[in-house]
Amino acid sequence: MRLLIVEDEPKVARFIERGLREEHYAVDVAFDGSAGLDLALVHDYDVVVLDVMLPKMDGFEVLAELRSARRPCKVLMLTARDSIKDRVKGLEGGADDYLVKPFAFEELLARVRVLLRRGGAAEAEPMMLRFDDLVLDLRGRKVSREGKAVTLSAREFSMLEYLMRHQGEVVSRTRLSEHVWDQHFDSMTNVIDVTLYHLREKVDRGFATPLIHTVRGVGYVLKNPAA
Ligand code: CA
Repeated sequence: MRLLIVEDEPKVARFIERGLREEHYAVDVAFDGSAGLDLALVHDYDVVVLDVMLPKMDGFEVLAELRSARRPCKVLMLTARDSIKDRVKGLEGGADDYLVKPFAFEELLARVRVLLRRGGAAEAEPMMLRFDDLVLDLRGRKVSREGKAVTLSAREFSMLEYLMRHQGEVVSRTRLSEHVWDQHFDSMTNVIDVTLYHLREKVDRGFATPLIHTVRGVGYVLKNPAA
């Protein structure tokens, strides 16, 4: 899951960034509205955390541009304590939720999780993703297959989560890299293949039916060919 934070106060931005990274999200940060918009138009973010008061372009202008460009990202607006007008304006402008400053990180995280659930295939069973005999526990960050624990690194977990959210669908390497890594990721490296190799070793090796498949020249798909 990849997130963008648009916030001009460096301390606040860093605080959110650090917290979200600790929760294993891929995170990018922009310190003004126009830089934030540029990033959000280029990259496929799952959630954009958007401050209202920003230099160059305010949060409402950024939101309006994102919605008119039909970007599918969820938007969580950060508004000032007393500004009910801002909250209404944000929601009317297509924001998915808002959070009043100052806030506790736990609260932000809870809102982000709700937005990710609303957007994803996991709606019916938000804290668990299942495919075949594979179970991914989003809250506990645990994976099991046939009831046996599978230990994954943070990247492997994110990659599997993305594949499970898009099960049966061929996911390109670009899409995987977009959602699992942030903008400092060099897509020319073979780190995706290496991560996927390790993921497969852990998820498929020793089981009768491999679930992760390569579609040559296109990407990867999670499927059970026997089912
Ligand atoms: Ca601000």
